[in-house]
Amino acid sequence: MERSAVKEVLGLLKKAEKAVAGKEITAEKESRCFDALSQLKYIPLTAETLVSSNAGKLLRPWRNYPNKKIRDLASTVYESWAKRLAAARKNQFLGEAKKTPTSALKSQEANRELIRGKLHQGLCMVLEETEEGDITRELVEASDPVGVALRVEEALFNNWGPGRLDNHWKYRSLCFNIKDPRNPDFRRKVLVGQVEPERIAGLMGRTRLEMARTRAEMASNQLQAEYERFEEISDRRRLIADTQKATTDQFKCGKCGKRETTYYQLQTRSADEPMTSYITCVSCQNRWKS
Ligand SMILES: [Zn+2]
Repeated sequence: MERSAVKEVLGLLKKAEKAVAGKEITAEKESRCFDALSQLKYIPLTAETLVSSNAGKLLRPWRNYPNKKIRDLASTVYESWAKRLAAARKNQFLGEAKKTPTSALKSQEANRELIRGKLHQGLCMVLEETEEGDITRELVEASDPVGVALRVEEALFNNWGPGRLDNHWKYRSLCFNIKDPRNPDFRRKVLVGQVEPERIAGLMGRTRLEMARTRAEMASNQLQAEYERFEEISDRRRLIADTQKATTDQFKCGKCGKRETTYYQLQTRSADEPMTSYITCVSCQNRWKS
């Protein structure tokens, strides 16, 4: 896997170079070059292979290329690779080393790098899973899988502390979910920033209910919808037992336009988020959430 990733990176760099070879540079040639370079973002390289492949050195000159679009793209990719390397090296050389024995730190850093690699691999799957013409395609193409993988891992580490994939269920579960072939929605949301890194770390709570919600959130959209329905049903059951619906003219029915509604409110997410209102139109029985 790693060897083929290196091969692919070197192949793309060569392709970019070939695209703009010759004296006459056309827009079409530069567009081919841009395409080759932009694919670099979606190749799951580890920090280690970044060093051994010399890919950074080969990419560096593109940051001075006359065409600004190509120049900017090369800079973005180069910077995210550099950050990736810096993250992998950080703990081995910086202050913390005094407190923790070097071998323990090395093993911790190796684990962190492993997790970054898994996250990056998952995020790289998104491009292939998003068809041309899909409304999110542009967002996906503009995204930075390396940078996102780094930010997510950093957030996890800050929230969960050190953990190995084989003995820490949160890390294991997340790395499984982000690469799960049946779950493309989750990684796409993470990649395009719909789910913030801090939120992912916060997703995994301790209580049983929170764990169930986490699973639902990470599961595919379809599963999520099923879960929400289930949640709504049990909410309603509870409600019938102990709450009286309130009547209000605060909401306008989208179906019949009248303002005669009953509603109840529930805390469906975490306590610091606003309550969800479940509204029913008195005249046409239309139901919606707000
Ligand atoms: Zn209505």
